[in-house]
Amino acid sequence: MADRKKCVIVGGGAAGIMCAARLIARGVKPVIVEASARVGKKILVSGNGRCNLSNANVSAEKYNAPKFVAPVLERYPFKELIEWWKRLGLITRTDGEGRVYPHSNYAGSVLNILLAAVREAEMITSCPVKDIKAAGGGFEVICQNAIISAENAVLACGSGAGGGRASYNLLSGAGHTVTPLTPAVTYLVTDKFKGLKGVRAKVSAVLDTQFGTWSDRGEILFKEDGVSGILAFWLSSFLARNRCSGTLSIDFAPDMTEEELKREYGDRRELLCGLLHKALADKLLREGGLELVKNYRVKVTPAKTDSQVMCGGAAVEEWGEDMQSKLHKGLYCIGEMADIDGECGGYNLHWAWVSALAAADSIADRL
Ligand SMILES: Cc1cc2nc3c(=O)[nH]c(=O)nc-3n(C[C@H](O)[C@H](O)[C@H](O)COP(=O)(O)OP(=O)(O)OC[C@H]3O[C@@H](n4cnc5c(N)ncnc54)[C@H](O)[C@@H]3O)c2cc1C
Repeated sequence: MADRKKCVIVGGGAAGIMCAARLIARGVKPVIVEASARVGKKILVSGNGRCNLSNANVSAEKYNAPKFVAPVLERYPFKELIEWWKRLGLITRTDGEGRVYPHSNYAGSVLNILLAAVREAEMITSCPVKDIKAAGGGFEVICQNAIISAENAVLACGSGAGGGRASYNLLSGAGHTVTPLTPAVTYLVTDKFKGLKGVRAKVSAVLDTQFGTWSDRGEILFKEDGVSGILAFWLSSFLARNRCSGTLSIDFAPDMTEEELKREYGDRRELLCGLLHKALADKLLREGGLELVKNYRVKVTPAKTDSQVMCGGAAVEEWGEDMQSKLHKGLYCIGEMADIDGECGGYNLHWAWVSALAAADSIADRL
């Protein structure tokens, strides 16, 4: 067929554009079909506008399906990914906790570099793909007013998290299983902290569930209906993956022993505001006293809104290490559309990049 494309990428987000960039570097000119008027919108809002694009501590255990992710991470090690970004033109910086940001500290740099890398790609925007059909040894990608025929098709539609467009019907239409979807990397819901909105605290916290226990130190930020901040975001993934609630035990003075706390404030409790924000100190004293500072227990569930990713998506058993479908040769699924979710800290974008590279290299090798 004369106008049959080598590869069509459905979704111009992080994974889709990176896939196109690699294909172009390998001499394949893809078509990107994007539902929105602009590509890469989520990249711009990621990391509070700074784009935490990877993490130096990346390992398979940072993801919900370590066995599936491991070979992809091995094939594209962290250092090589950073080198690849440099080759594209993006210089990065890594903070003390391994989080990688663009040197500019500006998410726009990541998108601009990707757009520069895909200048040669055919880009169709404002064009939501409705369906995808296997036809003549390739695929027909069906849009509102056009059908695009291609040898290979890459599904890179992301998820509904953060106001994204969910297009899992494209997977089920192609006969693939979609696992149940639950918002993750979000805040923890509880009504115990009403009135503390905007207050921050450096804490250590332990999350107990029937499926396991997770603990770490970090900053939390109270909301009217829950607890936010990186630590809460991180913990939310374990609740979301197991679709359960849990009990959070918060230590508001992780650098002090109980004895030290008693020695300092035992007979002058009114001065606890010298250790904690006054609103928080007053609340703890009102509800039970000094003991609550080291062990405040509260039931939490992951919020349904404000999530950064979705647990669930394309069932990984049906896809290979190169992100290719085991049902249809030449069909790929990358990024967050797959049932892969990473912890908070740059791991989700890291997955978007490496899964995109795996698919692009597989397509280029096969052509
Ligand atoms: C507020 C926020 C902050 C975040 N911060 C971070 C962070 O700092 N670090 C990190 O690692 N992760 C972060 N994430 C998560 C990260 O942004 C996503 O995991 C990542 O963008 C997934 O990339 P993707 O390409 O798979 O999907 P997306 O980036 O969502 O792209 C999918 C694209 O497909 C398009 N699309 C959908 N359906 C169709 C269709 N039918 N036809 C055509 N196009 C379609 C969409 O419009 C979209 O452009 C954040 C997420 C949010 C919401």
